[in-house]
Amino acid sequence: MDFRLTDEQRAIKEAAREFAEKEFTSELIEECDREEKYPLEVVKKARDLGFSTIKIPEEYGGMGLTLFEEVLVTEEFYRVNPGIANACLSSTFGTELLILFGSEEQKEKYLRRVTEKHAITAMANTEPEAGSDAAGIKTRIVKEGDEWVINGTKTLITNGSICDFVLVSGRSFEGEKRHYGITFAIVESDMKGFKATKIKNKLGLRASDTAEIYLKDVRVPEENILGEPGKGFYYLMEFFNHTRPRVAAQAVGIAQGAFELALKYVKERKQFGVPIAAFQHTQFKIAEMATRIHAARLLTYQAAWQCSIDERKPELSSMAKWYAGETAVYVADWCVQLHGGYGYIGEYAAERFYRDAKLMELYEGTKEIQKLVIARNLLGDILKRFGH
Ligand SMILES: Cc1cc2nc3c(=O)[nH]c(=O)nc-3n(C[C@H](O)[C@H](O)[C@H](O)COP(=O)(O)OP(=O)(O)OC[C@H]3O[C@@H](n4cnc5c(N)ncnc54)[C@H](O)[C@@H]3O)c2cc1C
Repeated sequence: MDFRLTDEQRAIKEAAREFAEKEFTSELIEECDREEKYPLEVVKKARDLGFSTIKIPEEYGGMGLTLFEEVLVTEEFYRVNPGIANACLSSTFGTELLILFGSEEQKEKYLRRVTEKHAITAMANTEPEAGSDAAGIKTRIVKEGDEWVINGTKTLITNGSICDFVLVSGRSFEGEKRHYGITFAIVESDMKGFKATKIKNKLGLRASDTAEIYLKDVRVPEENILGEPGKGFYYLMEFFNHTRPRVAAQAVGIAQGAFELALKYVKERKQFGVPIAAFQHTQFKIAEMATRIHAARLLTYQAAWQCSIDERKPELSSMAKWYAGETAVYVADWCVQLHGGYGYIGEYAAERFYRDAKLMELYEGTKEIQKLVIARNLLGDILKRFGH
């Protein structure tokens, strides 16, 4: 495998870096973080340039590129500021489900709304009592005549209170296996019975919208059902195979941003008459941070590349997500440590990276769940024989 970038990929990466460095100003970063403000203007600019619709096929107005290019852009955006990056790039979160499993009519209607009308999207599976146990959801999506009726509550949903439409999961029937019987429906936020409340006071990524969604007798037509009813859990797992490398890239970007801050600071800050970079312990830490970032990046690129050539490997997506997430937390932690007491103060970006990094080990499956996915893929036969 050779990860030398093509000229086109290099140009995309450079354009992403230039955009993030220019548009994510320190004033905007501070304001969005302090006030939990969604940066709509920058989101629109990013979308005009196609950064949020990289994987949407050209026939529906997207860029028609692959997860690999998306990973390159993600890394560059998160390096500058994870909150605004998330607002921009996750403004089309969930569209992968449509790309993978949507009908021609659904793609034409909804993906076009995303590419041409800047529609903001969401994917809602998590519920108050079902997070890691993704099949444990209680929301119901039940057929009544020509329509499907949805009742339930979803929580911790990215873009939940600002989305134009959301892909919602719910149980339609009890299958022989508990993973069977879940269905996804496309719900528009102006449909009767849809309500959402923003969740405030997040630790990090405060520019990004997170919400609780309430669905009370929401009625959707048959054409809003995604793929085959009952197969939603399998669709969700496939969706994660394609989105986890992107979270890994978010983590690599955060780690890179925090690392660059640390590198600059250890050269400038003097104690005992010398820059703190002169201490061997600092040198060891810089070496460890750089090596871990490099390893995380290679894992992320490989996972993304496997998806981009249609040879995705679930265990690789999970390895990348777990390892890169842990790397982001490790590097952000050491970035604060190397800043000493100043790292703890809000005016320094080190503190923000530290808060932002933690999410990388939590959403789209915690690091424990990633390890389970890896182990199940490696130990599948024996686990099945013993009923796991
Ligand atoms: C900012 C943010 C945005 C999010 N966006 C979305 C979104 O857009 N859509 C969506 O559907 N969800 C979203 N989520 C939800 C996220 O995916 C869940 O929080 C995550 O999957 C964990 O679920 P939980 O919070 O219920 O934790 P739990 O599942 O309750 O886990 C608690 C702890 O138990 C551990 N644990 C659980 N089961 C096992 C096990 N079998 N073995 C070992 N350890 C285990 C976990 O690893 C964790 O440490 C978001 C979350 C956040 C914080």
